[in-house]
Amino acid sequence: MQYEPVIGLEVHAQLKTKTKIFCSCSTQFGKSPNANTCPVCTGMPGVLPVLNKLAVTFAIKGALATNCTINRESRFDRKNYFYPDLPKGYQISQYAFPIAEHGYLEIEIDETTLKKIGITRIHMEEDAGKLIHDPARAKSMVDLNRTGVPLIEIVSEPDIRSPKEAGAYLRKLHSILKYIDVCDGNMEEGSFRCDANISLRPLGQKEFGIRAELKNLNSFKHVEKAILYEIERQTYVLQEGKPVIQETRLWDPVKNKTFSMRGKEEAHDYRYFPDPDLVPLIVDDQWIEDVKKNMPELPDEKHSRFMKNYSLSDYEARVLTSSIELADFFEETVTQLKDKKQAANWTMTTFLSMLNSKGIPVSESPVKAKAFSKLLFLLENQKITAGVAKTVFEEMVETLKDPEAIVKSNGLEQVSNQAELETIILKIINKNPNEVAAYREGKTKLFSFFMGQVMKETRGKADPKVVTLILKSNL
Ligand code: ADP
Ligand code: MG
Ligand code: ZN
Repeated sequence: MQYEPVIGLEVHAQLKTKTKIFCSCSTQFGKSPNANTCPVCTGMPGVLPVLNKLAVTFAIKGALATNCTINRESRFDRKNYFYPDLPKGYQISQYAFPIAEHGYLEIEIDETTLKKIGITRIHMEEDAGKLIHDPARAKSMVDLNRTGVPLIEIVSEPDIRSPKEAGAYLRKLHSILKYIDVCDGNMEEGSFRCDANISLRPLGQKEFGIRAELKNLNSFKHVEKAILYEIERQTYVLQEGKPVIQETRLWDPVKNKTFSMRGKEEAHDYRYFPDPDLVPLIVDDQWIEDVKKNMPELPDEKHSRFMKNYSLSDYEARVLTSSIELADFFEETVTQLKDKKQAANWTMTTFLSMLNSKGIPVSESPVKAKAFSKLLFLLENQKITAGVAKTVFEEMVETLKDPEAIVKSNGLEQVSNQAELETIILKIINKNPNEVAAYREGKTKLFSFFMGQVMKETRGKADPKVVTLILKSNL
């Protein structure tokens, strides 16, 4: 039987506030254990939580950027469960009345097709702490620095149908949250993490099957791989005639498998009830208007503008706006340049492949936009040839030197001087009588041989346009 995967994603995004959601402790990552704590976030008796206004503003911003409706009144609930990293014995979250609902994101399925993925809800909540296990000493330690750090949980509709769509949705959401600057997106530090729900149903059937939930996937690659594995595992289970068990599973990135962690809890297991210490959260029109007014350009808007302003193709604009860092790098590069298309090409090929080969993000690039722009300025003003520009770029990566300085100190300026090039070309023609004869008899492919000889002689510095003219007239 053919099965169709049904996937829904829950994303926890850490909001970029300086302080926690219900106290004024710092949210800074990497502090010594329990340095960022106070009686509120360690759950001492008698304390009262006070809601962080900026966290709400960021949640509204995230909700507007994902086309959600903001609820004018929402509430905080207690989600009760015991775990050593949860000192209060409950997590403050939103359950029955979340801050936002009914949004969507558009993902690109292929070059011509967009698909809307529904967003069921966005709610605000506090993060839990962290356990550090030390098997050598048979001890576990509790670090409460993360306890009370503000999160939004973004819950998608079960609209996703493949690991690839899941990856596209997550990348889009990640990109949006970084564009609007409410989440740093650092997946290694857990600022953006995903739970994936997967079920299968016979192709053509309307009802959903029983799902498994994969917890805490912290890279795009892991999400895609784990979903793929889970689809295969469930297909096998169903083909054996067995039922899929509703459970929570974990992904083992070393063994490339998921394994069962626990039976899936139901909402009623948590005994949600309204937090009596927190009043309902009222968001008025003014607040929403203020957030709207300060909303930066979103990825899709930037995409359209890049296509229009820089005459880029849909694909080029898509690549260059895929992250805010790359989009900013490109815009800074391109402003002083006439040839926008060339700048786009060089950013997408030379620059991006350098980052890929080093495995670093734009922010860590040894070549900054200013220097890259200078290099392309030399190229478009025919001070250097494209071949030389590649060499100069490599040296910029190695030495961090200015492109003009590299060109000067190595004498790499483009040679377009007619007389100078003619002397070189005549020498080459005289040295290769056989090739000249063959060319004249119609073997015009040999033109590139002559071009190559000139470039060799001039170390790639000859202006190819001038060389072409002189070669043509002399051959
Ligand atoms: P919980 O909070 O218990 O995980 P929810 O009902 O809020 O449960 O669903 C969480 C996620 O699971 C949502 O993203 C939703 O789209 C997805 N989901 C729900 N049912 C299914 C299903 N049968 N198959 C795949 N995903 C599902
Ligand atoms: Mg869940
Ligand atoms: Zn605190």
